[in-house]
Amino acid sequence: MLREGTDIVGGKIVSYIQDEEKGGCKIPLYLHVDENGYIQCYRNGKMTRLHRVALEDKLGIKLSSNIHACHICHTRKCFNKEHLELGTALHNAYQKIEAGRQRYGENIPNSKLTEKKVIAILKSNLSIKDLGSHYKVSATTIRRIKQGILWPETYKELFGHYSEKRIAIRNKKHLQDLTGSKINSCERKAA
Ligand SMILES: [Zn+2]
Repeated sequence: MLREGTDIVGGKIVSYIQDEEKGGCKIPLYLHVDENGYIQCYRNGKMTRLHRVALEDKLGIKLSSNIHACHICHTRKCFNKEHLELGTALHNAYQKIEAGRQRYGENIPNSKLTEKKVIAILKSNLSIKDLGSHYKVSATTIRRIKQGILWPETYKELFGHYSEKRIAIRNKKHLQDLTGSKINSCERKAA
C-alpha cells in the first residue's frame, strides 16, 4: 500500500511516497531527477544528490567526494536512511567483484574490512585485542587503523583531520614508496 509522508533532509522538508510492502523505499515527490536517475538537490548553494544528504544526516558527518553513498536497495531515487550506507569507489568495486565472483577478493589487502567496520573500530572503546578477534584481523591492523595510518581518509572523515602519526609519516620522505599515491594526494591538498 502506498502512503505519503514528509521527512527533513539537510534541513529541508521533502515529501515522498513509500510502499511498505515493497521494501519501504522513500521516493521523493516534486524533485528533479538527474540524467543518471538520482534525485538532485541543493546544499549550501551547491548541487548534490538527495541520498547523499540523507546519509550525511544519518551519520552526522560531511561526505567528501571520494566517499560514495550506496543504496543497499539498488533504487537510485530512494532516500530512506535505512537503505543507505557508506562506501568508497574501491569498496563499491570490491563489492561488485564479491557479488559476481566470490573468492576473487580474498587476495585484496584489507578485504576483511569495510569502511563501515573501520568506522566502528575507530569509534569503539574495546581493547585492540578484542577488536582484532571480533573483526578477525591482526592487532597490528587494528592499531594502525586507530593510529590513522591505515584507512587514513576514513579517519579524517570521522575526526576532521589526519592523525598525528599519519602526518609524521607523510613527512618522512623515505616512506613515500610504501604508501605511494596517497601521500602525493595529501601533499597536493596541503599545498
Ligand atoms: Zn530504498
